[in-house]
Amino acid sequence: MPRDPRYDILFQPVQIGPKTARNRFFQVPHASGMTNAAPHVRAAFRETKAEGGWAVVSTGACSVHPSSDDSPFPCATLWDTADVRAHALMTEAAHRHGALAAVELWHGGAVTVNRTTRHAPLSPSGVAWMPGHPGFMSSARPKVMDAGDIRDLIRWHAEAAVRAEQAGFDILYVYSGMGYLPHQFLLSETNRRTDAYGGSVRNRVRLTEELIDAVREATGGRCAVALRISLQELRAKLSDVAPSEAHEVISLLRDAPDLFDVKMDTSASDCAASRYTPEGSHEPVVDFVKSLTDKPVVGVGRFTSPDTMVSMIRRGVLDLIGGARPSIADPFLPRKIEEGRVEDIRECIGCNLCISSWHDGVWVRCTQNPTAGEEWRRGWHPEVLRKDGTGRVLVVGGGPAGLEAALTLARRGHEVALADRARDFGGRLRWESALPGLNQWFRVVDYRLGQLRKLPNVALYPESDLSAADVRDFGADHVVVATGARWLPHLLGAGELPTGPLLAPRVYTPQDIAAGVLPEGPVAVFDYDSYYLGSAIAEHLALKGLAVTYVTPAGAAAGWGIMTNEQPLVHQSFAAKGIALRTLERVTGFDGAELRLAQVFSGEERRIEARSVVIVGARESGSALFEALREDMPPDRLHLTGDALAPGAIVHAVYSGHRTARELGGQAALPRRDAPFAPPGLEAAE
Ligand code: ADP
Ligand code: SF4
Repeated sequence: MPRDPRYDILFQPVQIGPKTARNRFFQVPHASGMTNAAPHVRAAFRETKAEGGWAVVSTGACSVHPSSDDSPFPCATLWDTADVRAHALMTEAAHRHGALAAVELWHGGAVTVNRTTRHAPLSPSGVAWMPGHPGFMSSARPKVMDAGDIRDLIRWHAEAAVRAEQAGFDILYVYSGMGYLPHQFLLSETNRRTDAYGGSVRNRVRLTEELIDAVREATGGRCAVALRISLQELRAKLSDVAPSEAHEVISLLRDAPDLFDVKMDTSASDCAASRYTPEGSHEPVVDFVKSLTDKPVVGVGRFTSPDTMVSMIRRGVLDLIGGARPSIADPFLPRKIEEGRVEDIRECIGCNLCISSWHDGVWVRCTQNPTAGEEWRRGWHPEVLRKDGTGRVLVVGGGPAGLEAALTLARRGHEVALADRARDFGGRLRWESALPGLNQWFRVVDYRLGQLRKLPNVALYPESDLSAADVRDFGADHVVVATGARWLPHLLGAGELPTGPLLAPRVYTPQDIAAGVLPEGPVAVFDYDSYYLGSAIAEHLALKGLAVTYVTPAGAAAGWGIMTNEQPLVHQSFAAKGIALRTLERVTGFDGAELRLAQVFSGEERRIEARSVVIVGARESGSALFEALREDMPPDRLHLTGDALAPGAIVHAVYSGHRTARELGGQAALPRRDAPFAPPGLEAAE
């Protein structure tokens, strides 16, 4: 189909200094967890986006010098010729598809405490970054940079710029955001200097300006120079000469870079979870930039709707549509708009599993796109599959795993039947996506069902509760069992070892709440799953008017939600909804009127009033159907997948379903192992 003329504007080229972006789709720098230790994995990950139509593909933060070492968080480096070779794989891949390649030159300053390289962290004034987050920070405190340190920093950027050009990059970023070193100079709280780099806004901007000039001079104007800048805090600050310090900073820098990449200040606000933050949430902070500069402006906002993108351009907010998460969830987003296939876009759900991967120190994982990070290692392309399926496959269970398995099998060419006992497909998401803030998660179901309905080789059987005999009678060549998992009413003992079920009246699990049970209040939610569901159920019950106490053995609500940037917002939401929070406690007993708790370390016993309890803790895989079938079905024709195989988050179920479908009928190939290029002096060992 031809593209909708309404979207023509998205495909206009944009001049960025000496380079031209072929359209307005710009994959901005984002963490991928892919360091120079996995150069082929990284190149293929970015190449897929270039192939999918993004005009610019960027690296994540790329350290200019060993004094910016983010370990244990993964980051790229541009320190030597081995790094040049590693990045050249990516730039060549981007250029093969007509995209520009950008590198985010980066120095973390006080944010990076250099756990591996053991350099003293650098900072304008010795102010520690986020000392309340010891997991991110450490006991190290940064040194105050002297004039020589500043000269070194500028030189390191210039030298890295030379290496970046050698590696084939077209756009070189200076990164003055997210609390990193140049941003620390911009903020009055972290910059208390009295020299030419501190004090007035004019002085605080100086370092950023000099870095831009140094990068440009080092590459003789051949590469475009971009400035990535965080504006949230600056916009909140009054200025004597402008509406805010952000206005003053942009005015001073208006002609310095070839491109402004504008963003928020922290991971939690910049890469905000959809649970609490809508699409386009950056606009109130960054909307003024274009009025102060003629240079092109790129920004993000989890944009997946082309209408929203067009509106951002027509209203003069942005020139280029930045995408990080939308480009992970669907690397082919621009191509799909261009080809008039908007309904085929696999929209990001804003769950932030991707950013959790970086916090976990691993390659990016995506709930919507199971092929992310597997392009090179397993040879998985997000859009193209081997068309080798000839058999009839029955998939039992239409949750995230079953839907993904059915779709992937159908794309391979199999005749696919998908059955679920429920009237509607979607499995756990049928109900979970109705919880407060989680409605966008239903895109996991919508996308797959929409695609399945278009395929002629797919039959959908809702309201089909299949027994082992039913499955046998169906006579499929292969059976995929994706029947999900069950929550258990079990408690947690001392040492966090699971114990038996809590035997008392009015004890519920998420299944009961999903079935429509409204517990008697006051209700306690005991959450030792520690991801989103416990806190979402607490919010749901509070919104129903119940008095809710949330109890967790972790140190904070939604303990694992720190990984997905949800945790701070969960706490804010609890406060707003009047949900009482009890941390570092586990439930030890309940008599229907009083809940007994124990402090996890001291064992001290406490009691609170409660009429009912919801336990969000352990899960058991629901493989009874599988067990019955395996009695007489050959193992190579029977496949267990998703939560029924091993209970996990939706990202795990989708990945599991995808992998089952890719590998069905063939040998599970061992994934390829990547390796870094040898650093100078060790090449002979290669
Ligand atoms: P996953 O996350 O692994 O996809 P879910 O729990 O979301 O798992 O989905 C499992 C689905 O399987 C549910 O929609 C459930 O109704 C369905 N299901 C479970 N057992 C059967 C069965 N015997 N026949 C048909 N559908 C089933
Ligand atoms: Fe979007 Fe979630 Fe995928 Fe990240 S993991 S890109 S937030 S769908």
